[in-house]
Amino acid sequence: VPLPELLTARALFTDVLDIAGWPKRRFYEMLKLSATDPTEKAELERLCSKEGKKDYQAYASESYTYAELLEKFPSAKPNIGHLLDYVPDIKPRLYSIASSSRMRGNDECHLCIIKNEWDATSGRNCVGLSTGWLDELEVPSEGIKMRGHIHPSAVTMPETHATPMLMVALGTGIAPMRAFIEERAAAKRDGEECAEMALFFGARNRQEYSYEAEFDAYQKEGVLEHIHLALSREQKEK
Ligand SMILES: Cc1cc2nc3c(=O)[nH]c(=O)nc-3n(C[C@H](O)[C@H](O)[C@H](O)COP(=O)(O)OP(=O)(O)OC[C@H]3O[C@@H](n4cnc5c(N)ncnc54)[C@H](O)[C@@H]3O)c2cc1C
Repeated sequence: VPLPELLTARALFTDVLDIAGWPKRRFYEMLKLSATDPTEKAELERLCSKEGKKDYQAYASESYTYAELLEKFPSAKPNIGHLLDYVPDIKPRLYSIASSSRMRGNDECHLCIIKNEWDATSGRNCVGLSTGWLDELEVPSEGIKMRGHIHPSAVTMPETHATPMLMVALGTGIAPMRAFIEERAAAKRDGEECAEMALFFGARNRQEYSYEAEFDAYQKEGVLEHIHLALSREQKEK
């Protein structure tokens, strides 16, 4: 996306550049060239050298972001032009629609999102940019407006509900399956002929099976006849 003609520095760093992202090696190289403090320069030279490969990997597994590296090496003061060259733009995150417009109408669209969290080698907790932002979002009662694009789905339903469906999903991969189940439930309630549906779902634990009550109800209703779970942290066999 081309940059607008006028942009504040704040907007550049909050809305455009991925300063909370994962720095590539070339960013270390650029910092090495711009650092003026001898100790910082020597450390960056080591990180960029063959001998410093292990230390570089340790930095990467510590999940330092572009912003954190700039704080760690304060004598390196790349200008905005360099930052535009070396820090990529924030990429859009894709989420699958998890609801059916036939069941819920055109004004409602559900997403099923899991917060992306991991531990760096030191044990500090790291959170993904988009899911961390969503998690902290305080939504007023009137809601908030968000921009998004809709892409055609890579996974599609059979042409008629008379075709049986076998669905296999892991984690948030359940999202499009939930939309299919709702679509078929709406068709069944409208009296259409509907074939059997079966779901195989894998997750780490039962908490990640967030649609349990809903899917159990669809099972009783005869929409989703078969549900098979594989919860890797709750069962011995993998
Ligand atoms: C077609 C498609 C459909 C999708 N549908 C869904 C969906 O329905 N629901 C859903 O929850 N997700 C879905 N995703 C995934 C989603 O798009 C995001 O990738 C996910 O939410 C993580 O985004 P984030 O910004 O929170 O994490 P990011 O900040 O993008 O981080 C992602 C990963 O990158 C690594 N990482 C990031 N920064 C660093 C760093 N500084 N150092 C080291 N490692 C780092 C970590 O391993 C982290 O787990 C889908 C993806 C695709 C491609």
